Amino acid sequence: MEQLQGKKVIVTGGALGIGLATCRRLVREGCDVTIWDLSKKELDAAEKELTAMGGNVFAYLCDVSDKDRVHELAAAARKDMGQVDILINNAGFVRHGMFWEQPVENAVKQMDVNVNALFYSIHEFLPEMMERNSGHIVNVSSGVAISSAPGLAAYTTSKWAVWGLTDVLRLEVMTAGKKGIKFTSVHPGNIVTGMFEGFSLNVLGRLLAPPVKDHDVIAKGIVEKALKKKRHLVVIPWQIYIGMIVRGLVPNFILARIALLIGLGSCVKNYTGRKGYIHSTSEAETEK
Ligand code: NAD
Repeated sequence: MEQLQGKKVIVTGGALGIGLATCRRLVREGCDVTIWDLSKKELDAAEKELTAMGGNVFAYLCDVSDKDRVHELAAAARKDMGQVDILINNAGFVRHGMFWEQPVENAVKQMDVNVNALFYSIHEFLPEMMERNSGHIVNVSSGVAISSAPGLAAYTTSKWAVWGLTDVLRLEVMTAGKKGIKFTSVHPGNIVTGMFEGFSLNVLGRLLAPPVKDHDVIAKGIVEKALKKKRHLVVIPWQIYIGMIVRGLVPNFILARIALLIGLGSCVKNYTGRKGYIHSTSEAETEK
């Protein structure tokens, strides 16, 4: 099992939720951590907390969908920490509502933050990882990359793309003979508080994908399963694996019926999200 002591890590969206819980674990493991996040107040609070834990922490205000800012901060990370060993693309953005009722800008913005941002950050660090033949890129996808969620069309699209990107890049580096570079996609089910507060399935759906109690459950998966055990896929809760197997075996017309049978059709009916944050309403504006 890989020791993480001394590793230099970038965590996007590290000021709240899964990102912050992951940063706490990384600091405890003895890693240097750079956080990129666009919530100033939470970023400052996270930096303070992690520094008080004894962490070597570098916090930067960043919209990960801003290519120039990512380029600028990649240089800052090399200066602050030296080589970047691990990149965790965790920042995420969601708007809910049926696709045809939403401004198309909402869909585009979700692709920008959830997918294009990964092109920017990975393009910064993968070439130097290739040269060293070492490094690990962890991309946070979702359970909805396995079972599509009506009311979250663009988000679902973006998270399928995150999985696809992770999968194909792994094959590209293997094809190039760079066995030292690892890729993991992380697929969390819905966490009861925060970004997906109010997301719900019916009783049958909750059996197949039990809600996750807190963000640290996913952070533990990222650190223990992705980074230490180098797993390709981290799926939490494990029951979501069943959905993967079913998707591979069952014809699509049956799959669609199962999706509605487990309550996916009304999964965002009571959705509230993280109130007061950019991803908590279904409107188009992106400011807090
Ligand atoms: P969260 O709201 O708790 O944290 C998200 C963080 O990302 C926040 O700190 C926010 O400021 C930051 N962020 C958002 N847009 C950004 C941008 N453009 N640039 C930089 N930072 C940005 O959410 P979370 O639950 O911790 O989600 C983390 C990841 O997990 C996301 O990719 C999300 O899509 C995914 N995910 C979450 C759940 C869930 O139930 N919460 C389920 C599946 C997948």
